[in-house]
Amino acid sequence: MERIVLFWHRRDLRQHDNAGLAAALQSGYPVVPLFIYDREILDLLPSRRDARVTYIYDEVERLARQTEQAGGTFLAFYGKPTEVFAQLTQQYEVAAVYTNEDYEPYATVRDSSIAEQLRAVGADFKAYKDQVIFAKNEILSKSGTPPKVFGAYSKAWLAALRDEHLAPYPSRELFTSANLAELTDATPRPTLEQMSFVRYEQLIPAAELPAEELVRNYHQTRDKPGLVNSSTRRSVHLRFGTLSVRELMRQARELNPKLLNELIWRDFFMMLLWHYPFTATESYDPRLRQVPYRNNEAEFQAWCEGRTGYPLVDAGMRELNQTGYMPNRARIAAAGFLVKHLLIDWRWGDRYFADKLLDYDMAQNVGNWQWMAGTGAVAAPWFRVYSPQSQQEQYDASFAYVWQWIPEFGTCEYPKPIVDHKFARERAIATFRASYQGAG
Ligand SMILES: Cc1cc2nc3c(=O)[nH]c(=O)nc-3n(C[C@H](O)[C@H](O)[C@H](O)COP(=O)(O)OP(=O)(O)OC[C@H]3O[C@@H](n4cnc5c(N)ncnc54)[C@H](O)[C@@H]3O)c2cc1C
Repeated sequence: MERIVLFWHRRDLRQHDNAGLAAALQSGYPVVPLFIYDREILDLLPSRRDARVTYIYDEVERLARQTEQAGGTFLAFYGKPTEVFAQLTQQYEVAAVYTNEDYEPYATVRDSSIAEQLRAVGADFKAYKDQVIFAKNEILSKSGTPPKVFGAYSKAWLAALRDEHLAPYPSRELFTSANLAELTDATPRPTLEQMSFVRYEQLIPAAELPAEELVRNYHQTRDKPGLVNSSTRRSVHLRFGTLSVRELMRQARELNPKLLNELIWRDFFMMLLWHYPFTATESYDPRLRQVPYRNNEAEFQAWCEGRTGYPLVDAGMRELNQTGYMPNRARIAAAGFLVKHLLIDWRWGDRYFADKLLDYDMAQNVGNWQWMAGTGAVAAPWFRVYSPQSQQEQYDASFAYVWQWIPEFGTCEYPKPIVDHKFARERAIATFRASYQGAG
C-alpha cells in the first residue's frame, strides 16, 4: 500500500498561502487533505442551527471540490479526532499528519495527545505556524517573559518583522495531482443533515482583501459604526483561515499602520492565551478573582436583548443577535456596560459573545473581555468606567448606527436607562476597589 501524508485543516480553510499545507505538499509523499467536524466542540454548541457550522461546511465542500478537480481525494469526518486517526492509521499507511498550530487550550492538549497516538503507530505529527506572524515565545521582553504591555509588545513585534515573515507559502502552486493521493476507498463526507445541523446562512463578506480605499481611510472610519464599511469586516476570515493573515498584514503594512496595529493586537492576544491558558475562564489578575458581581439575571437578559436604555449598547447587541457581528466600538461599549454598570461577571458576557459572534475566537474574546473588565494580563485600569452617553456623542453623534438597529428609538417604546450612569460608576469603582485592595 502506498504511504500517504494527511494534511489536517482546522482554522485554515484555504489552499493558498498555507504554511502547513505547503510543507505537506513538499514532504515527498502524496497528500490527502482532511477535515474533522470535531464532536468534542460541535456537540457543546447550544443550537444545531449555527451559522458558523454552515459556513465551515460550505468551505470544506469548496476545498473538497478543488481537491477533486486537481486529481486528489479530500476526506471529512464527523467524530472525535482520536477515533478518526485510529481509523485512518488502520486503513492507510500514514507516514505523517501535517497541520497548522492552534494555540487554544483545548487544541494544544488535543494536539499533543494526537501526536503521541500517531507516534505509537510510527507516524509523525508536524505542526506549523500559520495563524499569526509571531507565536509563543518569539516576542519576549528583556527579562525573557511575555510582554504584558501592548506598546512594548508591538514595538518588539515591529522590530522583529522581516519581509520573509509576510511572504506567501506556495501551497496553491504545489497543489497538483503529482503531489496528491487519489483514494479509491474513501469514506463519503458527511452532510450537514447527517450531522444533525440545520443550514443557517448569514451575510459574510467575500474571502478577499478589503478594498484599497477602505484600508487607506481605515484610521478615520474604524470608530464610526454608523458608516457603511467603517472597518474591514475580515475577522471572520481570520477566524476560519479563509484569508491568510500574511496577505492582510502585507496590505496593512503598505497602506495603513493603524490597521497593522490592530492586527498586532490579534497576535498579542493569541500569544497571551498560549502563555496563560487559565485566562480562558479565570481573571489573570489574582486581586480581581473575587469581585462580588451582582449577576442579576433580569438585567443580563435586558443586556442580551438590547434593552438597557443606552442606545449604543443596545444597537450593538441587536446587531449581534441579528447578524452575528458587532463593530469594535459597540463591543467596547457593551462589554464595559455589562461588567461595570451592571456588575455582571465578564465570563457571562464572554460566553454570550462566544455563542453569537461569527468571528468568535477564544484568544480575542477573552483578551478583550478581560481588558474591558480590567482583570487581564493587559488591561485597562479596573477603575475606568466609560460613560455610554459620552461614547454615543463621540462615536455616533448623529445616531446613524442607533437608527439602523433600534427602530423604536425616540418613542416611548424604547426603555428608560436601566441604571443611572453616575450611580453605577461609583458603585463599580467602590466594588472593584474593595476587591482589589482587600485581596492585596
Ligand atoms: C468585548 C470584545 C470582544 C471581542 N471578541 C472578538 C472575537 O471573538 N473575535 C475577534 O476576532 N475579535 C474580537 N474582538 C475584537 C474586535 O472587536 C474585532 O476583531 C473587530 O470588531 C472585527 O471587525 P473587523 O474585522 O471589521 O475589524 P477591523 O477594525 O477591520 O480590524 C482588522 C482586524 O484586526 C484585528 N482586530 C481589530 N481589533 C482588535 C482587537 N480589539 N483585538 C484583537 N484583534 C483586533 C481583527 O483580526 C480584525 O479583523 C472583540 C472586542 C471586544 C471589545
